Amino acid sequence: MPTSTLPPTVAAHLPTGLLIGGAWRPATGGATFPVADPGTGQVLFDVADATAQDGLAALAAADAALPAWRSTAPRERAELLRAVFETLVARTEDFAALITAEGGKPLAESRAEVAYGAEYVRWYSEQAVRINGLTRTAPSGANRQLVLRRPVGPALLITPWNFPIAMITRKVAPALAAGCTVVIKPAGLTPLTTALFAEVVRAELADRGLPTGIINVVPTSSSSSLVEPLLADPRLRKLSFTGSTEVGRVLLRGAAEGVLRTSMELGGNAPFLVFEDADIPAAVTGALAAKMRNAGQTCVAANRFLVHESVAKEFAAGLTEAFDRLVVGHGAAGGTTVGPLIEERAVDRVEQVVAEALDDGARVAIGADRPRRPGWFYAPTVLTNVDPESRVVREEIFGPVAPIVTFADEDEALTMANSTEFGLVAYAYTQDVGRAFRVADRIEAGMLGINRGMVSDASAPFGGVKSSGLGREGGEAGLEEYLESVYVAI
Ligand code: NAD
Repeated sequence: MPTSTLPPTVAAHLPTGLLIGGAWRPATGGATFPVADPGTGQVLFDVADATAQDGLAALAAADAALPAWRSTAPRERAELLRAVFETLVARTEDFAALITAEGGKPLAESRAEVAYGAEYVRWYSEQAVRINGLTRTAPSGANRQLVLRRPVGPALLITPWNFPIAMITRKVAPALAAGCTVVIKPAGLTPLTTALFAEVVRAELADRGLPTGIINVVPTSSSSSLVEPLLADPRLRKLSFTGSTEVGRVLLRGAAEGVLRTSMELGGNAPFLVFEDADIPAAVTGALAAKMRNAGQTCVAANRFLVHESVAKEFAAGLTEAFDRLVVGHGAAGGTTVGPLIEERAVDRVEQVVAEALDDGARVAIGADRPRRPGWFYAPTVLTNVDPESRVVREEIFGPVAPIVTFADEDEALTMANSTEFGLVAYAYTQDVGRAFRVADRIEAGMLGINRGMVSDASAPFGGVKSSGLGREGGEAGLEEYLESVYVAI
């Protein structure tokens, strides 16, 4: 078991079972599945493989724990979350090592993810005591109106592999703050970080004499067999999903029967606009941040670089130079700035999409090859002269590839930016404030970075429009997703 990049304290005490009703246990039937290090291709741990029966047991535990949890004092829920936040910060190195081991990203990025993920726990620890209803006189004057806020109920949280801690905290923290109980189905490729996080929460609950069944974790290698019966079970009242639009659509159909509350954080195809009045060196720095985190495997990754024709050469040269300075390697190796892709078929797919772009007439400024080393790597790549109809522009790349397409004027830029079914995030570089507002008014995206390559913040609403999703995570809006309103007329 090559756990050498993991601190022994983490490797020795990592729970690899299912967390159901406050206790870790094997899957029914004892099956397990392997979790690999994408930087080496070697198996790190075998993890319990939850069955449909285990999923239903986890839901039963969440349902049983709900009455006690929803009636705890908000202050108690807040203090629990605050303690979890403190532990995450104190154990940054443990969590970062685990994220790098199973997810591949460079350690510096993993540490940043722990800090970012922990912020959601801190923010919702502060929001737990600020859940406000409403009281007023009805417009007719005939009666008083009271609006009470209640937790929606047991929630199923399904997460992707690309941010193993942040995707979990973005859901668990507001759910617990609202008084909901949860069943987590982590991504099969990265269930280890979830296990360590859940153990931190479980231990903290146990120390405080609070119900430990409020957080349940069921990793599985057969997601649909586990999830379908849960969606059909009337005890489940909420589904929060982050992942691809394709799977999101399947889950929405499944959720329709039980008329479940749903939050959907789905795929993106972010345009990165560089106008003729942009500060080009700043745009290159922003492009690097927007494109290269997690080797391009983020939902907010800049997918299409739309650059005014008068500055395209300068921008492409700057980006190529910046990519040339990147160091590809195992995430735990000193100096690495670009880690592996998550699995071999991800590399195959990126290779295929680049090959198609070249067939369509694109030129390689740098990269477009597969480094020869163990693990699943693809070289940082800049493509110029890209056909806007190429798959590399139309589909989410999820790899370290930057295709550059040119435009002639602002109107064309915005038309190109909006010509996609997705609408998660967009980036725009311009020094003209009027233009910045025009872009903000017309862009079809849930988020926009102006002269910034990063927008995420625990205190702000994160989410998409069009096929990029429903609902928001973070900020006040993120808590609303786990609350319902009950109107009382007196
Ligand atoms: P995915 O859709 O393949 O998987 C996401 C989760 O759903 C995983 O836990 C997976 O095991 C589970 N799953 C897959 N099929 C299922 C089924 N039939 N029933 C139930 N569960 C199922 O996505 P991924 O490859 O893990 O993540 C990458 C995608 O996630 C990208 O499209 C990316 O843009 C998106 N993403 C979106 C956000 C956001 O906030 N909008 C954040 C991160 C990632």
